[in-house]
This record gives sequence, C-alpha cells and structure tokens, in this order.
Amino acid sequence: MKELDLSGFPPGTITEYTTLVCLACIFDIFTKQIGLAPRSAYSEIKRYTPTVEELTSRKAVRPFFDSDEKHPRCPYCNAAKRWHARLDTYAIEGGKTTDAPRRKLVKSLEKKKDQFAVIEVKSDRRSAFFDWLDTLRISLDFGDPEWLLQATRAYLERKAPKQNWPMLFEGLRTVRPSSRLEEGWERDGSRLFLTPPLYNESLLIQYLVSRSHEHGGRTLEGRLTLMELIRRMRKGGYLEAHGISATDQFEIFEKLLDEVAGSGQLKLYYLVDRRQFIDKVKSVYASYA
Ligand SMILES: [Zn+2]
Repeated sequence: MKELDLSGFPPGTITEYTTLVCLACIFDIFTKQIGLAPRSAYSEIKRYTPTVEELTSRKAVRPFFDSDEKHPRCPYCNAAKRWHARLDTYAIEGGKTTDAPRRKLVKSLEKKKDQFAVIEVKSDRRSAFFDWLDTLRISLDFGDPEWLLQATRAYLERKAPKQNWPMLFEGLRTVRPSSRLEEGWERDGSRLFLTPPLYNESLLIQYLVSRSHEHGGRTLEGRLTLMELIRRMRKGGYLEAHGISATDQFEIFEKLLDEVAGSGQLKLYYLVDRRQFIDKVKSVYASYA
C-alpha cells in the first residue's frame, strides 16, 4: 500500500493517529446486535467511517483497540490478526502554511473517495496546541536526557517551520540563551543559542510536556514549578515585552499559553486512510459468508 506523501506540509502541522479495529467484533455487532444479514452487514461496514472521536481517542473502546504487539489478539473477542484492520488518521491544522498542500493532497485523492475520508472539524488554536503537545509527550523517552533537545526542536519546528531544524540540531549538545542575539537563533559548534524569549518559551514547552502536579516540570534549567518558571520569565523581561501585566499566576499562565499556542479559531481536517480497512473487510467477508 503506497504511503501518503505528506512532505509538502511543514513539520508539527499534522498529528497522526493509528487505531486497530476488530472486524470480528464489527460483524458481530451488525449481525447479532443489529440483526442484519451478513450480506447487508458487509455493505454497511464497507461504507462505515468511524467518528473523529473513535479514530483519535487515546482510550479505545470496542471495536477499536491499540496494540504494539506483532500478533495482537482482539481484547474483546480474542480474534486473531487477520480479523484486524488498521485505520490511520492524519489531523491537518488549517492555516496559511497548510492550505495549499492540503488542497493538492485532497485533490489527488478525489478519485479514491471510498478509500479516503476527509472530516472537517471546527476547533481552536489552544486545543490544536494541546493535541500537538500530547503527541509530542508520547513520542519522548523521559529516561533519556536527549528528550529536552527533542522537545525544544519540536517547538522550534512548530514556531518556524521553514528553517532546516534537522540540520541545525545535527550533533547538537546543548541549547543556551544568548542576550547578544537580536532575533532567532545561532549555532556555534555543538551549541545552539536562542534569544532569551525563545529560550524561555522552549522552557515552557519542556515544563508543559513533563509537568506533574507535585513536582513541576523538567527543563533545561532543571526542575521548575510554574511559579519559578513565571518568575524567570518576568525577570527576563518576557512578561513586560508581551504586555502581560496580570499578577495571579494562573492568569499569567493563561496569557503565556496564548503566546505559545496562539489564540482564535482553527479548522482541523481529518484525513482517514480507509484502504486497509476496505481490503480487510472484503477478505474477512469472503471467509465469513
Ligand atoms: Zn474482536
């Protein structure tokens, strides 16, 4: 099955979700619970596109499940792998940098309408940001100190998608703030220097991705509580420069989130790859009927 070409999209603008669905469970629901004849169940199932919730939820419910195993069994009915289909979903953030590549991609799939579904959902920048953060958290290994650099890179990729970040992070050992810099970043040997505001924002991302309620978050500056992080940002002039005059820490936190997440409405386009699903439905029906 040909992989979708997503190379036209800037990094950090697509969140990928994968879920397994058990066709034995689906056939069971359609024939036993709903009472359809196998033939009608088959044509219903072939047309079926799960909801965004079902496709992207971190906690799957029947007939969906997640597994990293090579030969998983359905957790609900114990069906073997040949009964399982994979559904890949790509959530594309709408916006200036993604509109053109998205239209091009959707156009290229137009002839395969039953193989791909596009679901448009109204959302906002804040939720899209937390989805991104959630995906980032899952991809990081917090036992490996490298995660701090990986989280920083992911944020910079999101912030400045046109820059060649893989190259800038190649062989990198540390990220430091530099008040000498007027804007952006500068690589020097194995160190990457960021302007203090950008550095502070990357600390905020590290905090958010690793925070636990009792102990604060882990950052390039060690463990920081929200209070300590805010104090640091105030001292560095970040709050003043961004017109944040609130004194309550949670109010300040909200404003800081607006800075890193952006605010306002946003459209999300969920592209559902149904190819494997349809293939499997066909082969399973052949053995079922
Ligand atoms: Zn099952």
